[in-house]
Amino acid sequence: MHTKSIKELSKLLHKKTISCVELTKIFLERMEKYDSKLNSFITVTDELALIQAKNADKRIAENKTTPLTGIPIAHKDLFCTKDIKTSCGSKILDNFISPYEATMTNKLKQAGMILLGKTNMDEFAMGSSNENSFYGHVCNPWNLQNVPGGSSGGSAAAVAAYLTPVATGTDTGGSIRQPASYCNLTGIKPTYGRISRFGMVAFASSLDQAGPMATSAEDAAILLNHMSGFDVQDSTSMQEPVLDYTATLNNSLKGVTIGLPKEYFDENLTTGVAVKIDNVLTELERLGAKLKEITLPHSKLSAPAYYIIAPAECSSNLARFDGVRYGYRCKNPLDLEDLYARSRGEGFGDEVKRRIMVGTYALSSGYYDAYYLKAQKIRRLIADDFKRAYEDVDIILSPTTPTPSFAIGNSSQTPIEMYLNDIYTIPANLAGLPALSMPAGFTEGLPIGVQLIGNYFKEANLLNIAHQYQQVTDWHQQIPEGF
Ligand code: GLN
Repeated sequence: MHTKSIKELSKLLHKKTISCVELTKIFLERMEKYDSKLNSFITVTDELALIQAKNADKRIAENKTTPLTGIPIAHKDLFCTKDIKTSCGSKILDNFISPYEATMTNKLKQAGMILLGKTNMDEFAMGSSNENSFYGHVCNPWNLQNVPGGSSGGSAAAVAAYLTPVATGTDTGGSIRQPASYCNLTGIKPTYGRISRFGMVAFASSLDQAGPMATSAEDAAILLNHMSGFDVQDSTSMQEPVLDYTATLNNSLKGVTIGLPKEYFDENLTTGVAVKIDNVLTELERLGAKLKEITLPHSKLSAPAYYIIAPAECSSNLARFDGVRYGYRCKNPLDLEDLYARSRGEGFGDEVKRRIMVGTYALSSGYYDAYYLKAQKIRRLIADDFKRAYEDVDIILSPTTPTPSFAIGNSSQTPIEMYLNDIYTIPANLAGLPALSMPAGFTEGLPIGVQLIGNYFKEANLLNIAHQYQQVTDWHQQIPEGF
């Protein structure tokens, strides 16, 4: 039962083969049994889940349903969920019970989804391995010694181990796609502005986007249908009509032109990954797609620009955690300055502090033009590269990451090496473009992901290609041993 798709589960619920309460119990039992190995959840909302499941059963009996009614889900612990702890993986919010609900999670709640719990993550979504969490690291179900990726590592591990049918994540520089690729999932970061950011705790506001993480493109499409849409409470959300992303999943790929940016097939790419990408290309050609080499000349500048812009925005966004209004407060502050300094000093972890310091420096007077302004200019050049490329191609394909998942506690890795995990995913965030990662096979037992980047609001194209690929391959249906 736990490996079934959303569509299959929904059918069984409607036929009353299984009740939603029974289905929810199956997943809660799996969480209880397996999560001690993974540490993918920070909070389990079992009581709430069973109440919501009872209500869903009622809605099904009354025939007042959506395609998501009665389907369990887990949310990254970055989304505010009313009356439920929302920690962002940080000590500073360990005691924070959100007094309001994020727009996106509310939409899924209204659609009748069942919340199983909140998932582990790198603190404030800063990281690529989920090792920066106050709640401890998460293990990859495909190899428990390895990281699941980050920052949405808890969501990725939980879906990959079938502890939940689907989950949500957020992606500022790759945090949906990179863990999706490390855990054999389909994850999509939509166009910036597609999904409301209201109630999603900000890391770098001009880059952050929420998105679904699922075992198939079809499940991701169903979820995206219900997550998307304009929101008056988010001034950056777009007034663009929401398509039915499931309606075009079966479109033929005949005549679709796929661009291969030569800069993404560089010396950083390991052969294990490169071979799998080649196989994907052969399969897509067989399905009717045409391939074309393209150039995105400013790609190399993406990571340097990102690691100025993201820390700069985070240094401003995280100023609100001051020990005064909510969250962690240090014991016995001597005065106001001591209260600020020690609450933040004791509440934030190392990586968050590193980013706040880098960002504050980059924004300080005298350095602003040299760093922040320059990075913004580079960002425009990167967006222009894509604009030019989409005059010739429909979609751009690349590896999601240069390597598969790596070992937990890989102490030889410096922060810079860790940052390079995201060289292929960051450009889509800088340009605001939609991008998806889908399973492309395994190397030495570890999953590999391939990335599809689309033009603005072309999420449907990405999901269509991924779905067609998943009709002729079964990588996405593999189940990690022991789960
Ligand atoms: N790994 C990147 C970082 O640490 C991206 C994180 C994200 O997308 N939230 O900034």
